[in-house]
Amino acid sequence: MSAVIEQTIETYGIDNWGAGYFGVNRKGNLIVRASENDNHSADVKEIIEDLKKRGINPPILLRFPQLLVGQIRKLQSAFRKSIKEFEYSGSHMCVFPMKVNQNRAVIEEYLREGTRYNFGLEAGSKAELYAGLAMDQSEDSLLVLNGFKDKEFIELAFTGAQAGKNVVIVIEKLSELDHTLKLAEELANERPGAKLPMVGVRVKLYSKGSGKWEKSGGEAAKFGLTTTEILEVIRRLQEAGKTEMLTLLHFHIGSQLTDIKRIKNAMKEAARTYAKIHKMNIPIQYLDVGGGMAVDYDGSKTAFESSANYNAREFANDVVYVIKTVCDDENVPHPTIIQESGRYLSAYHAILVTNVQDEIETVVEDITTPITLEVNDTQVVKELYDLRETINVKNHREYYHDALEHREELFQMFNLGLISLEDKGKGEVLFWDVCEKADEYAQQKKYVSEEFDELRRLLSTKYLANFSVFRSMPDNWALEQLFPIIPIHRLNKKPTEYATLCDITCDSDGIFEKFVDLHDVKPVLELHKLIKDEPYYLAMLLVGAYQEVMGNNHNLFGVPHEAHIHIGEDGHIIKKVIHGATLGDSLATVRFDATQLHDQFRRIVQQRIKDGELTSKDGHQLIEFYESQIDSYTYLSPNGS
Ligand SMILES: *Cc1c(COP(=O)(O)O)cnc(C)c1O
Repeated sequence: MSAVIEQTIETYGIDNWGAGYFGVNRKGNLIVRASENDNHSADVKEIIEDLKKRGINPPILLRFPQLLVGQIRKLQSAFRKSIKEFEYSGSHMCVFPMKVNQNRAVIEEYLREGTRYNFGLEAGSKAELYAGLAMDQSEDSLLVLNGFKDKEFIELAFTGAQAGKNVVIVIEKLSELDHTLKLAEELANERPGAKLPMVGVRVKLYSKGSGKWEKSGGEAAKFGLTTTEILEVIRRLQEAGKTEMLTLLHFHIGSQLTDIKRIKNAMKEAARTYAKIHKMNIPIQYLDVGGGMAVDYDGSKTAFESSANYNAREFANDVVYVIKTVCDDENVPHPTIIQESGRYLSAYHAILVTNVQDEIETVVEDITTPITLEVNDTQVVKELYDLRETINVKNHREYYHDALEHREELFQMFNLGLISLEDKGKGEVLFWDVCEKADEYAQQKKYVSEEFDELRRLLSTKYLANFSVFRSMPDNWALEQLFPIIPIHRLNKKPTEYATLCDITCDSDGIFEKFVDLHDVKPVLELHKLIKDEPYYLAMLLVGAYQEVMGNNHNLFGVPHEAHIHIGEDGHIIKKVIHGATLGDSLATVRFDATQLHDQFRRIVQQRIKDGELTSKDGHQLIEFYESQIDSYTYLSPNGS
């Protein structure tokens, strides 16, 4: 591998956050592997070019089902090894929390692989349950129901149990237990021996997680039953003679748990609760440890909010070991461990690829335009000119501060009407010239002070990326969650620009000024200079969990095109292409009807024709064009087409 490629791999941190799935080939293109040690790979640039030939333009969401499978295997094998190592006598199964990504392709692929290990599903709403009920699951796998439930929700759960599924109704509120017991009694009278759903309880732990979702745990959490409430559930079950229904204890202290210590503490508390319930002669057998296994988005392997200070093996070791120790201490059998990991399983498999549409200059078009001083230039312009000519490595800081003052003066004089537009323009160019030089000198120092970091951000180029952060990366907007972003080509060339990114929504929140970095967060991203008439593509990675399904319609940017890719011996195979939303699709979400819009537009144009402002021919051309656009993509067409 060339030294330059090695350097770019390091610049973007591919080996840190890539979990072995991503790399760069000799052509300098980003590649995706089905697993860490796989020799086969798919070239992302080639995929995009193939799709373009089919008329599919960026932004495009690429789905690699093999990466979902890879994550399932990693998790399963981590637990298998820990169970063996600690001679744990229970087993481990997952239930996929559907809210993380309800796309049919994801659920089906997950079950195809997961069924081999009795992996099941977790649903948190009636709609998710409805889909879950129709999916084929293995005989021993579970269908766990979390979230608040009404009577219909519980009736659907009973329907699932009678259809043969191992449904677990996790009680979030005591009223849910009452509905459940009533339905169980009715069913027992109507159809004695019918399969009933099981009951679980979600415990509110004292232990909290860490990171952005810390609030999901602790005493003030939204979900979960207190100790008294759990005892009340048991009392009501005993009263109804139905204690055998209670089979599962659940807890979930939040998503993206960054710190393994916190997880261990929660595990101890939950395992103890489990053991105590078991000792009350309740045939409880499942301990559901929730989700929360973190994805190391920045690759720093730390407890930073976009990272995690543990891997799957350490996580499994801690879970298995703690449960075993507590259960042995309490002398109760080891439970089947249920895990609800969504983020960890699905984040890697999806990549959004888009093109940089253009760049937005922050400063002046061409900063090197020679500016000459004229005798009648105003004093402030002369001073800025002087700073530019004499700034050096020793005085750069002081001169930069002087320049800031002069700029302030420039604006004040302009506002008072004392200088012309030309004076102001000249002064601005000189000011940015000083900044550029100050930045250059500052970066030569070993320790760059914060004010120059800020300057670097100001001086950076803004690249306009053809996508919507609200649609495709909502957590970046809402939670400042970081995702790796890298070019999919030219990785055999050193990136020479420092850029920030803007999306194409009309929202100033649609910007990226924080990028993943091994040691910190980068205020700018190293990218290549745009080449005229040549596309420049960026990939936003690890977006398979939450992002696509939580994205919204801001500005009516709809779902992007989607392609399902198989990585084979000879590279990629495009298995399926799903067209993204058209203008018509997006407008329909806000209840605009295409036919009605067409009628109304036609009426407006016909009036113009009647008024003699348009010829009939021109008018009809307008109508025809307007109507033809209803089926176009909501994103920008690539430049030059
Ligand atoms: C959201 C959620 C999960 C999934 O969490 P991840 O961090 O994606 O693993 C699991 N269980 C419950 C109850 C949840 O609400």
